Formats: sequence, C-alpha cells, structure tokens
Amino acid sequence: MGRCTPGPQSKDGVMNPIPFHQLPHMLYADPQGRIFEHPYFRMAGFSGAEPAPITEGDLMELPEFSKLFFIPDCPPVGLDPETGAWEVIPHIELEGKVTPLNAVAAFLEPGLVRTHLPAADYGRKGYTLPMWAYTAVGFRHGAYWAAGFQIEKNHKWDPRNYDDRDLVLAIREYERNQVTGPLVEHLKACATRNHCFAAKNLFLGRWEAPLPISRTCNAACLGCLSLQPQGSCEASHQRLSFTPSTEEVAAVAVRHLTHAPEPIVSFGQGCEGEPLTEWRLICDSIRRIREQTRQGTINLNTNGSRPEQIRKIAESGLDSIRISLNSALGERYHRYYRPKDYRFADVVASIRVCQEQGLYTMLNYLIFPGITDQADELEALGGLIDKTGINFLHLKNLCIDPAYYLQKMSGTGAAGMGMRCLVNLLQKEFPEVELGYFNQPVQRASSV
Ligand code: SF4
Repeated sequence: MGRCTPGPQSKDGVMNPIPFHQLPHMLYADPQGRIFEHPYFRMAGFSGAEPAPITEGDLMELPEFSKLFFIPDCPPVGLDPETGAWEVIPHIELEGKVTPLNAVAAFLEPGLVRTHLPAADYGRKGYTLPMWAYTAVGFRHGAYWAAGFQIEKNHKWDPRNYDDRDLVLAIREYERNQVTGPLVEHLKACATRNHCFAAKNLFLGRWEAPLPISRTCNAACLGCLSLQPQGSCEASHQRLSFTPSTEEVAAVAVRHLTHAPEPIVSFGQGCEGEPLTEWRLICDSIRRIREQTRQGTINLNTNGSRPEQIRKIAESGLDSIRISLNSALGERYHRYYRPKDYRFADVVASIRVCQEQGLYTMLNYLIFPGITDQADELEALGGLIDKTGINFLHLKNLCIDPAYYLQKMSGTGAAGMGMRCLVNLLQKEFPEVELGYFNQPVQRASSV
C-alpha cells in the first residue's frame, strides 16, 4: 500500500524531524500538579511504547478548548538537545528542593488527529488512567504545542459554539413547550453534567441530537465510556438505567428533525450500552418517525455485531450508520472489544449489509499512534475497505490509558509509519472515502 518518503516539503506532507534545539521545551508537573517548562530538555513523543521523532507537520499550537493533565508517579521523558538522546527525567531542583517530576499530557479539541502519545515512564504506575486521548505536549515561544493535526474543521462541533448560558434558557424553553419524559430528563443531565454536545444540541434545537436507548451491551471494551469493571478507572458516563418508550423516542426525534437546521438524530451514545440490543425498539421508533416526517437523517452508532438486525433496521428506514472498531485485524479487535456473542467476521458482514442496503456507511476508527499506523494494520484496513466499501472514515483518537492499551494489544513491537503518513496513504489509495471526525447529515434517496 505504498510508503511515505520524508523530506523538507515532501509531497507526502511528511517532513523531516525538527532540529533538536527548535523543539518545544519538555513540560513537567510537580506533585501538586503545577505545570512547568523544563529549562533544558525538549519535548518528546511516543509512538506505541517508544520515543519517535517529531516533525513540523506533527506540531500545532494547542487550541484553547483542549485540556492539560499530569500523570502521577510517571516521570517525563525528554530529549537532550545536545545529543538527541531521549532520557527519563525523574526529578529536578525546584525552590531549593529535589522535586519528583510527573509527565504532562494534553487532550485535544475534537476534529484533531493525535500523532504522538505523551513521553512518560509508566514503570511505577499502579493505577489505570481515566479514558482520555492522552497526547504529547510541550512549550515554545510562550505557547503550548501539541502533537496533532486537523482532520476535519466543523463549526457544528466547535466548542466555541457551545455557550451554556444559552443552554440553560433553551432547556427552560424546551421544558415549557416540548416533549417530557425519562429520556428528556436523562438528556438534560447529559447536556448539563456530562457536557455532551449532542445532548446540548437537542435543547438548542440544531444539528445532531442523541437518542440513547440501551442498558446492556454484548461487548466489554477495554475503554468503555459507560461501564468499567471494579478496580479499573471510573467510567466517564453514567450508563442509561431504563429503556425509553417508542412514543418518547419518536416524539423527541420528530421534534428535532422537523425544527433543527441540518438535523441528525443518532441512536448509540457514550452514555448507553449497545443499541443493537434494542433493535426492535429502533425499528418501531424509525417507522413511527418516518410516518410523521421525511426530514433529516436518522443515524445509528453501533459496534456492528449483528448483521441481520442491521438489515431489519435499514429496512425500517435508517439513513446512515457508524460502526466502531479499534483495529481491522480480528485478533486485535477481539483483544479490545472482548465480544460476548459475536466475532469480528460479524462486523465485516454488517458493513457489507450496510452497503447492500444503501446506508451511508461510516467506520469509527479508534486510532492509536504506534499501532494504527503499522503496515499490517494499514494493509488490513485497506483490505476491509476494498471488500466492503464504505463512504466515510472517522479518525477518532482512542481514549484510553496508553500503558494499559499497549499491555493488552498484540504485536505492538513493529514501528508505526506516522499518523500523517497513514492519512496521506489512505487519501491516495481510497480517494472515494472521505476522512473526518464527525457524523455527516445524509438523506437516503430511497428512504421508505
Ligand atoms: S460496544 Fe460500546 S457500550 Fe459496549 S462495551 Fe464497547 S464502548 Fe461500551
């Protein structure tokens, strides 16, 4: 599937590594979590478990709605600008005291692809980090610089377009005039407590809104956002504890589809299990919605585990689908999803059914530098796209503890080609497949 040739202005967009002295300074945090730039060592970034060169194409000024974290008990790894060697920096003399150092990481705004993981020594870490997409970050010319690049610019998911002062008023307005019920109550909490943009959109009456419906799941993902086993980290979302009625689902959806600009309603959210476990509710809801309106897009975010149920949902009037996977290699997929009653082959069969049914088909590729950009992974993904045909590939930074994921995944030894190189090769090899980050509004011509 081709390869990238680095060069100053190479046509592959993959540039030469940045000269050591021009790299941003390494960041570290003291035990109180206060963040400082190191006076000497430069920023480093990991691909998988190893340091990897950072090129100009890999660096961007950290956008303001990103987050900064420190990683307790994990000293940073920095680059010595004189020798080019990567070194673990366990402590520093700070305010006259020898202070142990903690690594620092960023979590990028939506729409950006992370190119490097934080450079840290996880050897003494005795806990699992919560689910964020930890990214390498440094400091240069008075600003934070992160290892990433933009894959999709979309005003509908731009944090600058979400002002909670508008939201509070919008929720009051919605309560006065619209549908009420347990689903709306749940979505109010999602919008105000979990800051879910899709839930905010429901009340703000625009773009993509959520329709969570499932309490259970037929997989046990290592990085599940709504359910984490005892002894792991806390789940970032409270999983739905009830099954909404078809009436409420349809009422919420019809209201949104008939009033919102560029409306999408999506089954399958971070705050629920697997929506296919409620496929009958989905079919009944879609039929009830389409009896009342033909407007907008009805979408399903899913693990794609049950091809025959997806066929029935498509026949009931679904417009688009987004199937998530961390790998196009079955063995690696099973290690992450830990499926209970299906195999990767079922997911592949589902993608085929989606194309047969004329659904706008998106893959939600959960990407991780050092694994996703390995040659065998790219080969497998290429084969999957060739075999099934898809319309859109989401490149979503996988939110998980890097050390935990690497420990669980197989074949982590092979070097990655770099995330930019991966994107360039995909664009060259599959020009018909759109690459991005967000669900797209589509209207299926043949909607029943
Ligand atoms: S498929 Fe979704 S709900 Fe199920 S375990 Fe994975 S992330 Fe969680």
